[in-house]
Amino acid sequence: MAAAGTGSRFCEVLLFALAASAAIRADDCPDCASSLCPTHEEREEAALAPFNTTNGMPTPEDRLATLDGIEAVCRQHMNFRHPGTARKVAGLLFDADHRVRMRAAEVLRTVGEIHTAGELAGRHAASLAPQLATKPVKPSEAAGWNRDLELFKLLVLVCGESGVMEASPSMVRLLGTPSMDLLEIVANACGGIRTHEVATAILNAWVAMPKTDSRSGARAVALLAAWRAVTRAEMKAPKGASKEDFERFVAECRKWLKENQNGPEGLLN
Ligand SMILES: [Zn+2]
Repeated sequence: MAAAGTGSRFCEVLLFALAASAAIRADDCPDCASSLCPTHEEREEAALAPFNTTNGMPTPEDRLATLDGIEAVCRQHMNFRHPGTARKVAGLLFDADHRVRMRAAEVLRTVGEIHTAGELAGRHAASLAPQLATKPVKPSEAAGWNRDLELFKLLVLVCGESGVMEASPSMVRLLGTPSMDLLEIVANACGGIRTHEVATAILNAWVAMPKTDSRSGARAVALLAAWRAVTRAEMKAPKGASKEDFERFVAECRKWLKENQNGPEGLLN
């Protein structure tokens, strides 16, 4: 009996140790908690060093290598991400070279401090939206426009995935785009930003969008899914396809929003 008792105690200890080690992920650092540990602070500063010297990264390849280095060191301490590092990375969203801009957005997505990444990606996407709302007439402008659209898509994704309050003002601006192509991209990404303002902007976008072109069905589906993700409200889609059915549905949604402004449904504000 005694031996069995010791054995089960041993099992308990072993299970506890396993559970404790499972809590620390492979890409976490046990010493980085509310700030960087000395080792990672030193490594991160070294990775960011090219930003501190004038013309420290003269070629796009230099900037790409810096971004690779930052990503590699950040991956060693995913449990603490430095906002200052994300701000430096976000600075390269404005780089002259498209590859660098795309890579900066990607690094923000993979290792960026989430509040900074969500806010700055959203802001940059919202600033790109007006020029992307109309397709260029001149063939010479098409390549640049397509590159900006590619960056826009990734930034909207980074913004939506962040799920942070700081991304809300930009998401609201993005949902107000007059371009239905851009709206579809935004509608598919905005469900993670669970604020009252985003929920209202989703409804407004839905009311304002034309219901008759070939993509309006897909857009409505994306907006309804976003509305549900943001509000977590158990609301049925409009029963019929008439204008009255839709108006009744929107009125129900607005009523729900009013009743649940700071409610237990978990809206962030
Ligand atoms: Zn560390």
